[in-house]
Amino acid sequence: MTEQWAQKFSYAVNTVILLMVFGLMYFFSIIEVDFLVRFSIPTIAVYIIGYILIWRKKLDFYVWMVYLWITIYMGITTLCLGHDFGFHLYCMSMIPVMFVTEYISYKLNHKSLKAMPVCVGVVVFYLICTSYVSFRGPLYDIDKNAAGIFWMMNSLTVFGFLIFYTNWLIKTIVQSEDKLRQMAHIDKLTGLYNRHYMMELLEQLASNADGSVLAIADIDHFKKINDTYGHNAGDYVLQRMAELLKEGDENTYVCRWGGEEFLVLLQGHLVDDGVFEALRRKIEKADFSFEGKQIRVTMTIGVAYRAKEETIDRWIQRADEKLYYGKEHGRNQVAM
Ligand code: GH3
Ligand code: MG
Ligand code: MG
Repeated sequence: MTEQWAQKFSYAVNTVILLMVFGLMYFFSIIEVDFLVRFSIPTIAVYIIGYILIWRKKLDFYVWMVYLWITIYMGITTLCLGHDFGFHLYCMSMIPVMFVTEYISYKLNHKSLKAMPVCVGVVVFYLICTSYVSFRGPLYDIDKNAAGIFWMMNSLTVFGFLIFYTNWLIKTIVQSEDKLRQMAHIDKLTGLYNRHYMMELLEQLASNADGSVLAIADIDHFKKINDTYGHNAGDYVLQRMAELLKEGDENTYVCRWGGEEFLVLLQGHLVDDGVFEALRRKIEKADFSFEGKQIRVTMTIGVAYRAKEETIDRWIQRADEKLYYGKEHGRNQVAM
């Protein structure tokens, strides 16, 4: 959510409210409530000031000014016309909006009024106005038909708003949760699962991991690649390597285990011993060219089959030991 988006959104909201104020002004003139017609003039002024505030990016100030004015407007119309017109309902719709405004301000790093005390203030004001009308009756005595029309219109606006707003809010929350979950599981550079998520996957798969095989694959002399061709070339090699490793079937899980180390899990199917040798050869022959330079890349792979009753940590440790063995015995090989 950017400030620019918030600015555009505020322009739209301000315009809708302003049009509603004109509409209401017209209705008030039809039902001959002069005071409310006159009260529409400062209300229009408030929303014109609103445009200036939005334009100057004083969105916080704008939002709280609008809430304050809607509350006052709700109070005055209720005092003049009574409950039957349903203007007091607008207070309800403001409660969730105020909390979301506080949240958006927090996201945009603005200081903001706290929603809780403002809501309490709105409720107190609501109680004062509605109680006054309950005990004393409204200041104007208006035709019941007009009240019925307003009651319907205002109720529909408030319910419609609450339904759409809450629906939008929940959808937005679900979307951003999904995005966060994705981000938490994925390594940014390679797009592979990260170590943390791979551990979760391994724990989940542990119970039916018989026959599964796990490999830790480490690029040979990667430091030298960085030193010779630069860090960007190193990053490119990691990304290209991720592409090559991802080419397996749906039972293959690949993660970036560390800097230039990858963990490959072949799950739940009888694995042919030749799979990793084929992978090693594919990498050895693959084209790694960065900015016109051919980079020779090889990998050492330590492989461990799942032993019955062994812990995940022990399983990984055994693959690591094989990897170490492969590194000690000439690299560019599969150690089982
Ligand atoms: P070996 O064959 O024994 O594995 O040697 P090596 O050079 O591959 O291993 P070493 O552990 O000495 O060096 C790993 C290097 O990987 C060091 C580190 O700077 C580099 N590295 C780790 N993460 C990244 C990364 O995200 N991008 C780049 N470009 N380099 C990285
Ligand atoms: Mg290495
Ligand atoms: Mg390493």
